[in-house]
Amino acid sequence: MPPYDYDIGIIGGGAAGLTVASGAAQLGAKTLLIEKEKALGGDCLHYGCVPSKTLIRTAQVYHLMKKSQAFGLPRFEIPPVDFRAVKKRIQSVIETIQKHDSEERFCSLGAKVEFGEPAFADEHSVRLNGKKVSAKNWVIATGSSPSIPATQGLDQTPYLTNKEIFYLDQLPSSLVILGAGPVATEMAQALCRLGTQVFVVQRSGQILTKEDKDMADEIMKVLISEGVTFFLNTTVLHVKDWGSEKEIVLKDREGETISVKAEQILVAMGRDANLKGLGLERIGVECNPKGITVDDRLRTTQKHIYAAGDVTGAYQFTHAAGYEGGIVVSNAIFHLPRKTNYTFLPWCTYTDPELASIGMNEKRARETGVEYSVWTEPFKSNDRSLAEGEEAGKIKLLLDKSEKPLGVQVLGPQAGELLSEWVAVLNAKVKLSTLAAAVHPYPTLGEINKRVAGTLLSQKIFSERVKKGLKFFFNLKGRACG
Ligand SMILES: Cc1cc2nc3c(=O)[nH]c(=O)nc-3n(C[C@H](O)[C@H](O)[C@H](O)COP(=O)(O)OP(=O)(O)OC[C@H]3O[C@@H](n4cnc5c(N)ncnc54)[C@H](O)[C@@H]3O)c2cc1C
Repeated sequence: MPPYDYDIGIIGGGAAGLTVASGAAQLGAKTLLIEKEKALGGDCLHYGCVPSKTLIRTAQVYHLMKKSQAFGLPRFEIPPVDFRAVKKRIQSVIETIQKHDSEERFCSLGAKVEFGEPAFADEHSVRLNGKKVSAKNWVIATGSSPSIPATQGLDQTPYLTNKEIFYLDQLPSSLVILGAGPVATEMAQALCRLGTQVFVVQRSGQILTKEDKDMADEIMKVLISEGVTFFLNTTVLHVKDWGSEKEIVLKDREGETISVKAEQILVAMGRDANLKGLGLERIGVECNPKGITVDDRLRTTQKHIYAAGDVTGAYQFTHAAGYEGGIVVSNAIFHLPRKTNYTFLPWCTYTDPELASIGMNEKRARETGVEYSVWTEPFKSNDRSLAEGEEAGKIKLLLDKSEKPLGVQVLGPQAGELLSEWVAVLNAKVKLSTLAAAVHPYPTLGEINKRVAGTLLSQKIFSERVKKGLKFFFNLKGRACG
């Protein structure tokens, strides 16, 4: 075997790459981590999850201040938002987390960190900063970038993406968001709450298209009530820069043209895998329209080169990237064949109310042709929701014909947190009767989980058949009223 410089080389210091680097180095593999930006952490830390969730929380606090009277508090005049102060808070949260993702920390774990943009020279080596570096195994974890549509005029018009939106000095007075996926929807609500007039343009007839329509429509209803304007079934014809304003010309389903003018445009229309400059074509690593092609052990068409995270175009979440990083460590370092399994991969859209999902929703169940039944419980029947003033939403449980859970969607306050119980239930194959019988503290939002699990069982327990049986055996006398 040729003497490689490293046991494993990782390209990309985001969620996937950092997971592999930390695991491999701590297991004693000679590890090289290469990042093209000045700092580690990737999109999640700098332009994604962390800044977006920080902004969402700030917007939520401002929104609650405006709603003070709904909580029996006095009304008060709130000054407009100074976005530089918001940006400062975002940067401070990023800086705190950055320490965990620092070069020093990875060096202390045993991984060598290099900054630069490598290109494969051959199947085992890359060219980096004028040197050739080799590794027995490679991992491509270069993530994704915002997908920019070929809309007429957009290339001559300044626009924002997730790379700029958290670093503005001023809150835009108005904003047109192209796309209505999770990033677009979260930003629409947050910026609207902070005082921006927000328009959302969506090609299809539903926002959050991966989700069930009833759940997505309920989020849209909340956003509309807060002031967001939606253009569904609408395509962008062209865009024009008028200096202080940008004009977006749309065509709706009836063929009518609509002109919307706004200070800024945010493009949030999905993601493209970061493949440029890696030289994958030279070494026979195949790609598809979504990203790098991998098998279920995350091996590319070159079996010693793995790909993980957004770059494969599969499930573009930080926790998916981390999970995949772990799979790569098992396969490449432990040599334990481990396959990906996304059956119970959860996710959450952090609007208010949040929408969290695990397993199949109705859309996926219909696609796969599986027989299912739906059990729901509204948050307005949960005492804690009422106390919190957070009554919107419901939980939806899908069961197969043998009454085993296929999936759960929670639309409501802290849905992402509430889903954790279902993560355990579904992964550990806990019986619904166990969940329904487990005592949950009162009053908590989490009682909704127990309640929905119990609805199916209570229908059986309180059935006419059971009542008849009890009457027969124990001579029960039946209703005492009405
Ligand atoms: C606004 C927004 C909000 C989001 N919110 C959430 C959320 O709440 N929860 C969630 O789970 N996910 C969220 N995501 C998705 C999440 O950010 C990604 O799924 C995650 O970052 C993917 O991790 P990764 O390691 O694959 O890629 P990244 O984190 O993007 O890391 C890739 C790294 O590779 C580097 N790189 C790229 N090309 C090269 C090269 N040629 N050479 C060297 N280095 C290179 C990049 O600089 C980057 O550091 C959000 C995304 C966005 C845009």
